[in-house]
Amino acid sequence: MRTLPAIKRPKGMPEGSGSIEITDMLAARMQGALGSTIRELTKLAGRGDVISFAGGLPAPDLFDREGIRAATQEVLDEHLTSALQYGPTEGLGGLRVAVTELMLGRGLRVGTEQVIVTSGAQQGLDLLGKVLLDPGDTVIVESPTYLAALQTFRLYQARLVGVPVEADGLDLAALEASFQAMPRPKLLYTVPSFGNPTGVMMSVAKRLEVLRLAARYQVLVVEDDPYSELRFSGAAPTPLLALADQVDGAANWTVYLSSLSKIVSPGLRVGWLALPKALHAKVTIAKQSVDLHTSSFTQALALAYLRSGRLVERIPLIRASYRARAAAMMSALPRHAPGLMSFEEPQGGMFLWARLPEGVAAAALAVEAARAGVLFVPGAPFYADNADPRALRLSFSSASPAEIDEGVQRLARAWASYNKTRQVREST
Ligand code: PMP
Repeated sequence: MRTLPAIKRPKGMPEGSGSIEITDMLAARMQGALGSTIRELTKLAGRGDVISFAGGLPAPDLFDREGIRAATQEVLDEHLTSALQYGPTEGLGGLRVAVTELMLGRGLRVGTEQVIVTSGAQQGLDLLGKVLLDPGDTVIVESPTYLAALQTFRLYQARLVGVPVEADGLDLAALEASFQAMPRPKLLYTVPSFGNPTGVMMSVAKRLEVLRLAARYQVLVVEDDPYSELRFSGAAPTPLLALADQVDGAANWTVYLSSLSKIVSPGLRVGWLALPKALHAKVTIAKQSVDLHTSSFTQALALAYLRSGRLVERIPLIRASYRARAAAMMSALPRHAPGLMSFEEPQGGMFLWARLPEGVAAAALAVEAARAGVLFVPGAPFYADNADPRALRLSFSSASPAEIDEGVQRLARAWASYNKTRQVREST
């Protein structure tokens, strides 16, 4: 008879030293993993009419319910059998063509065979981590950057190095220094168009220089682009991948991610990756082990919706709506809470990245704000290193302009009570 192997004891725990907690069994990669700050703050709020500037949720009133209903009906009437069946790991053929066309509208010429449909762009990030990162590999990220990307790369035990973001994108001198440092970084992760959390748009000159540096130092550029359609005015930003042809060797060193989440619906969980040929097969294998493929049903639905042509028609409406919400927030802040925050005006996207006055900590103000019935996310979790404790992110995307005004008034009240408790603390 074979005996079962003994349970491997957690490091430092001698034989017979008592019972093992289930958390002692966690993989090393999970031990430092943190949950969502937003969820914790929501618990503190304890009131029904909370106004949230916390999550990056699309405005519910912008969902094209009529269009989605029609697309669903089409799937039910015409594609039900295939929508209920397993499908190819790379994604539904027609949807891969449709997203290729969507990318063409952004100036991006990508072969359909380079596309993999993913369960949201988030899965694209995870797959890249799985395929590319060994523990200890260095990933260069914008400082600050999308916090769930940090979380993903951390779960693959990468070493994260932040490079500051300026008003027109990455600080190039710091970027080059990070590329020269040893050990050499493997990836640069960037959200160049109306990034989360800063709302910054990287200039074309910087995009080209980032590509040149990446090609020179052979660092793979991961371009995450969920927001580029959400510009408030002016010309469309050109994706880095679209510029890569102008830089020797860059096209094979750039990966592009995008998603229907911010322009159609995050609930569908439809995103995609556009990959250099050499990576495509490996990412496909990785996706097989994760979920075989993204839901056939939602892919069929997304395809029917994209084919209806309604999205292209609605984009101007979506942009105008976010522009109005951003304007409401930028006008309410100096009116109701003068001196509380300084910020750069975002040109698109869903976020206002702001800084509090000297001595005011965003984490402590967030607690006061939750009590006053308004949520925002303190900036610290968006940094890989050297966090700014005075930074915070306000999302203007899901509240109406009237709610935004009310939410900012609550922020002003939260600041007043924060100051009061600070005075009490300092005088005792
Ligand atoms: N990247 C960025 C920069 C994001 O802000 C988000 C969503 N907040 C994602 C990726 C993930 O989006 P999806 O819903 O497509 O997974």
